[in-house]
Order: sequence, then structure tokens, then C-alpha cells
Amino acid sequence: MRKKIIAGNWKMNKTFLTSRELLLEVIHGLSNDVLDKTEVVVCPPFTSLALASELIKDKKIGLGAQNIHQKDDGAYTGEISAPMIKSLNCQYVILGHSERRQYFGEPNHLINAKVKNALKNEIKPILCVGETLEEREKNLHLKIVDEQVTLGLKDLSVENMKNVIVAYEPVWAIGTGKTASPEQANDMHVAIREAVENLFGKETADNTRILYGGSMNDKNASELLAKQDIDGGLIGGASLKADSFIKIINSAAK
Ligand code: PEP
Repeated sequence: MRKKIIAGNWKMNKTFLTSRELLLEVIHGLSNDVLDKTEVVVCPPFTSLALASELIKDKKIGLGAQNIHQKDDGAYTGEISAPMIKSLNCQYVILGHSERRQYFGEPNHLINAKVKNALKNEIKPILCVGETLEEREKNLHLKIVDEQVTLGLKDLSVENMKNVIVAYEPVWAIGTGKTASPEQANDMHVAIREAVENLFGKETADNTRILYGGSMNDKNASELLAKQDIDGGLIGGASLKADSFIKIINSAAK
């Protein structure tokens, strides 16, 4: 049985003060019962990680960063490394997000290096994959996503895979209000599970959690999360509103 994960990706939003407000609202809105049933992760910007770490100290809420550099340290001005986020108690990191692929030119081999570095530092990568609208219209979505999974997870072991989470995020659904239908999303999750099976075998594929991301909100979450192969959500916009995020988590816990 795969435990569902709901992870909030705050992206480049929230200052120190407004992060505090949002996180306190989320913490107060979640019952222990719900937190036992569903893994909840918040991924604030780097500047709010220390604060978030303190606020969730005794709570069953995980902490994630939104990126890391592929090296542990060195002369890389402006970058943040895995040991740095680890020192703030981050257990997760989002890698390969389409905004990083698109705006910062991150290719699959770099994302793979970051995934390996996260694992080396005992941080669980949430590897994001997903096709653009153009790729879907050209019927290339299966090929593109298979490639992103295969190259993103290259050279990992079955043991490593126990700590890897995959997120399917169709680029055309991110921040657009357009969601993949539950069937469309589930079909892609099945394809991703097959790609994982080809690389690591059936047991690993059956145990790997695959989240859906792309305009998931409190209205559509239940239907998406009810699908067999959808093991949770990576939530952007709706994670910035405590009530929406809490409702999504509550529907995952049902
Ligand atoms: C995301 O960027 O990971 C995401 C899913 O964003 P949104 O929910 O806003 O589409």
C-alpha cells in the first residue's frame, strides 16, 4: 500500500513574515489523524526553510526545498547545496521542475546529477517530469516522459529508489487552471510506473509513489486522488492558500 503524499510547492512566493502566517494556518488546520494517514510536505523558498523547520519541529509535517546544486560545496555563487538544506532538517527536494527545465535550462543529465546528490545526502528527491502542450499535440508525450524518467533515474539502485518520489506534471496544466483529466493523468502514471519497472523491476515500480501536479485544487483533488496510480499531489498555486491546501490534504486522507 503506497501512502499518499501531498506536497506544497510555494515557488518564489512568500516572505519571511507571510511564510510564517501561511504555515501556522496550515499547522492549525490539520488534525493528527489526517497527518497519520497522509504524508504532508511543505516546500517554501530557501529564505523560509529555517523558519519552517522551527515551526513544524514537533509536527508530522515534512520539509522540502525547491532545488539544490549538484555539488556539496564550492565556488558557485548564489547556489544552495544538499548539506545546507539538510542542516535545516529538509527531508525532501523538488528536482527537475518544468520551470527549472524551461527558465533555467536544466537538462536531464544535470537533473540526474542533482537526484544522485540528494540521495547521497539522504534527502528524498521529488523528480518532476511532464510534457509541454506542443509535445502532447504531436503525440510525443509518452516518449518525452519516458526519456525524462529514464535519464533522471539513470544509474540509481533499487535501494536508492526506496527514497525517490516521481511527480507527473504536464507543463500545460501548471498554473494554467487546466487540469489533466483523472483518466489522462492515470494513464501517464501507469506509463511512468512501466518505465520504472523496466529500470528497476516490478516490486520497485509497485512501491514507487507517483504524484500528480498541475492545477490540482480543492475541487478536483478527490477525483484525481481516487485513481489507482495517483499517489498524491504536488500542489503549486493552491498550496499558497491554507484552506485549499488543507482541503486537498483532507481529501487525500479519506
Ligand atoms: C507546480 O508547479 O508544481 C504546480 C503543480 O503548480 P500549480 O498547482 O499551480 O499548477
